[in-house]
Amino acid sequence: MTIRFLGTGTSYGVPYAGCDCAVCRSTDPRDKRLRASVLVEESSEEVVTRLLVDTGPDFRQQMLRANVNHLTAILWTHSHNDHIIGLDDVRPLSDKQGYVPGYCDARTFERLNAVFDYCFIQNREHPGFPRITPHTVEPFQTLQFDAVAATPLPISHGRAGEIFAWEFVAPTGRFVYASDCAAIPDASLERMQGCDVFVVDALRHTAHPNHFNITQALEAIEKIDPKRAFFTHVTHDLGHAETEATLPDRVRLAYDGLELKI
Ligand SMILES: [Zn+2]
Ligand SMILES: [Zn+2]
Ligand SMILES: [Zn+2]
Repeated sequence: MTIRFLGTGTSYGVPYAGCDCAVCRSTDPRDKRLRASVLVEESSEEVVTRLLVDTGPDFRQQMLRANVNHLTAILWTHSHNDHIIGLDDVRPLSDKQGYVPGYCDARTFERLNAVFDYCFIQNREHPGFPRITPHTVEPFQTLQFDAVAATPLPISHGRAGEIFAWEFVAPTGRFVYASDCAAIPDASLERMQGCDVFVVDALRHTAHPNHFNITQALEAIEKIDPKRAFFTHVTHDLGHAETEATLPDRVRLAYDGLELKI
């Protein structure tokens, strides 16, 4: 299983427009963060499974950078704009492959359908429209995509309520992606335990009602005890190099373009 980080920034992206702080002016490419999204790929001789988590405002640029010409499915974590608002740009992929299956909870679908109702019209015969076949899923409902099993695990996004983390299990290992996380309920925590790679929200050093800060993210990592952990959804408060120097060995900051093999 290959994990490609397409975006690792908070909702503003980094650099922030109009900001001249040290991180926003940094020349380290790892300090340039598009909005949070990840691509999970598994290839066998016959089939490539390519699962995308979230379609934020940088979706188009992320598909171009990662050279994606086909998506097996789109999985959404929740309905905030920084995770959905690029959906219109699925158009060229739909032109090539037709309908793309999309999976989310009922609340996220309600929001997606309010903004992008034209993407969910079924049986369109002509190209030129984004075409998504929507599926609402329940927490812990496992979806099988050839060799990859994907399961939504409920987490708290603070005042924004319950959203999905996603667990991916392939023959080679287990990966959990928990963006936009303020707390992890016990049932999900138990399920996440001992995974090979754990990706978690770590917004900044100071507290935030809807997101883990670094201290809280490290506490979650202690409990889950993954082999490796990566921070995502990061603000301009955290410069890549200087933040990473303070972290335990198994915990790194993810950055746009980072690829992991499990
Ligand atoms: Zn977000
Ligand atoms: Zn800044
Ligand atoms: Zn959010």
